[in-house]
Amino acid sequence: MVIAIDGPAGAGKSTVARGVAAELGFTYLDSGAMYRCVALTCLEWGADPTASGEATSTAESIEIGFEDGEVLIDGVPVTDEIRTPEVTEAASQVSIHPGVRAAMVAEQQRLIATGPYVTEGRDIGTVVAPDSPLKIFLTASPEARAERRAAETGQDVAEVLAAQQERDRSDSEREHGALYAADDAITIDSTGMTADQVVAEIAGLARERGLA
Ligand code: C5P
Repeated sequence: MVIAIDGPAGAGKSTVARGVAAELGFTYLDSGAMYRCVALTCLEWGADPTASGEATSTAESIEIGFEDGEVLIDGVPVTDEIRTPEVTEAASQVSIHPGVRAAMVAEQQRLIATGPYVTEGRDIGTVVAPDSPLKIFLTASPEARAERRAAETGQDVAEVLAAQQERDRSDSEREHGALYAADDAITIDSTGMTADQVVAEIAGLARERGLA
């Protein structure tokens, strides 16, 4: 069973999903980290992230794991390496390929079938878990999202805003796994809200629905 939290970059999905999982005793799954692992491996192996065949065979060749808060590729921790701006850009590129998405979606479905999960991404409520009993579409203004990302990475806000606009466009317009709110999703605009407030709202909804 999964609580699905989808939304654009910088809406606060990771912090919120982690908080909801801790509050309810569920396991947290960061689906974006998986696309980042494919991207990092492409860069390390010299594969072209924009080439469908190369990116797909890379995705199919690696084993992605999550253990004690670390993200692993074939058992090696890459938690920090997958957060660089180069990997962020390449992750957006690999995520448009249907073969990459099929491999990631299959792995996500396998994981969430094993217990109660809170999973965040772009297509969790629409593609990975359309039967999810609680779907949240978490958003915030572009400026608020860029400010949060810049505070995390130490980059310039204007620079983050420009890169974010490009990723938003690619995420919403791509043919496979495009970002949109599921019909039965509850939209939460986190602009001006603290992460704790958003966590409390989602945990409250989960309890109301008898999920926890
Ligand atoms: O959420 P995060 O920024 O870590 O995601 C990295 C990349 O992976 C994004 O560019 C996004 O397009 C892609 N992604 C995706 N589907 C998901 C999660 C992330 O395509 N479920």
